[in-house]
Amino acid sequence: MADNASVLSVSIVTPDGRVYENQGTFLAVTTKLGQLGIMPNHVPVISSLEVDVVRVKHGEDEDKIAVNGGFLEFSNNAATIVADSAERQDDIDVARAENARQRAEATIKKAQAAHDADNLARAQVALRRAVNRINVAKH
Ligand code: ATP
Repeated sequence: MADNASVLSVSIVTPDGRVYENQGTFLAVTTKLGQLGIMPNHVPVISSLEVDVVRVKHGEDEDKIAVNGGFLEFSNNAATIVADSAERQDDIDVARAENARQRAEATIKKAQAAHDADNLARAQVALRRAVNRINVAKH
């Protein structure tokens, strides 16, 4: 790979351990304030992340990781993402995510009927996680 000034290293960690570690030439994340693209030598950033895909480009390839929120810290060409959970594209169990999606949709319907705001909010978050995993696995 090229010299350190033209690459960035990306590390994604969760309570279960390091899910991803690689070098790349471009990092794309979705922050609470919108999309953020980071190239080498970008200014330092600390940002909260949405439940969404994280993309890391290196050469002609692009790695995709489903990230469940968390936050990003970037400085000195090193990005660290800390999240409750994260899965590399190839590690996503699509059937499990489809089950989680169906469960969350059923819970949302019940919670709406019962005006149960707590369960509704929890199920909406679970639905976002499941849909994100399905999207990352399939694209
Ligand atoms: P489920 O209801 O299927 O457990 P969840 O959204 O409640 O889904 P999390 O609590 O976010 O699951 O994650 C628990 C652990 O399981 C984490 O280590 C996460 O990476 C892993 N995980 C969850 N769903 C999947 C999936 N579809 N494929 C691979 N790993 C998954």
